Amino acid sequence: MIPVFANSATVRTRESFVLRGGRRAPVALQVRFGLLEHPTVGPVLIDTGYTHETVAGPRSAALRTYARILRPRLHDAGQPAAVLARRGIGPEDVAAVILTHFHADHVSGLRQFPNARVFACDRTFARIAARGTLGNLRHGIFPELLPDDIATRLTGFSTLPRAQADVPKALTAVADLFGDGHVLTVDLPGHAEGHVGLLFPRLDTPLLYACDTQWMLSALDPGRAPGWPARLIADDPDAGMATTRAVAAFRAAGGQVMLCHDPDPAPYDMEPAP
Ligand SMILES: [Zn+2]
Repeated sequence: MIPVFANSATVRTRESFVLRGGRRAPVALQVRFGLLEHPTVGPVLIDTGYTHETVAGPRSAALRTYARILRPRLHDAGQPAAVLARRGIGPEDVAAVILTHFHADHVSGLRQFPNARVFACDRTFARIAARGTLGNLRHGIFPELLPDDIATRLTGFSTLPRAQADVPKALTAVADLFGDGHVLTVDLPGHAEGHVGLLFPRLDTPLLYACDTQWMLSALDPGRAPGWPARLIADDPDAGMATTRAVAAFRAAGGQVMLCHDPDPAPYDMEPAP
């Protein structure tokens, strides 16, 4: 089972904000989401990227402000519906969406997939459901992007079989998403509450989709993780540094690492639409 990733949008920011020693010049960060065609489960998305729900139409003032500050530029051909259509998959056919965390650039398009089970960190979801709007905003979460019936479609990571695969020492694999050993969640604390990566241990070179551990791959190199303002945004900056080191150790041991936002083409990126 080989995942592919597409780029839903670009967000421009100053490189030095996301890479220590980076240039003052802007860098175009990608906003990836993944697609897996599981032989028995069906089409599975890994997050949704940015979609129109974040940038247009009726939204709360807070979400409009967020979109005005970050100004994501959506890519029509990289939107989840367009990427699925290229493979003959309709939005209603999507069997599951795996959420690495609940930030807007990962859950934005969830409402487009009415039949999908949502695999997510149930402890984090319980906190979101229990908090008010302001409490969620403080964590960068916009519950208005979550489908109204998400609670009934949620499969919590804690309810899934424990991962059995050999996992590099620095990482903790938690849930075996489909019970077949092909896709495991790995706790990557720091960036956001309940932030996880996905480990594909059965690929020729094991792949860790480390999502938002850092924005740029070069930030995994020693001394290159950004300080302020990235630390301000992090849920737990010190845990994030430990996670960065663990992911770097996985890469140093021969594993392949992919990030959601790295600006450069990555090995599992889909060919851009013609
Ligand atoms: Zn993100």
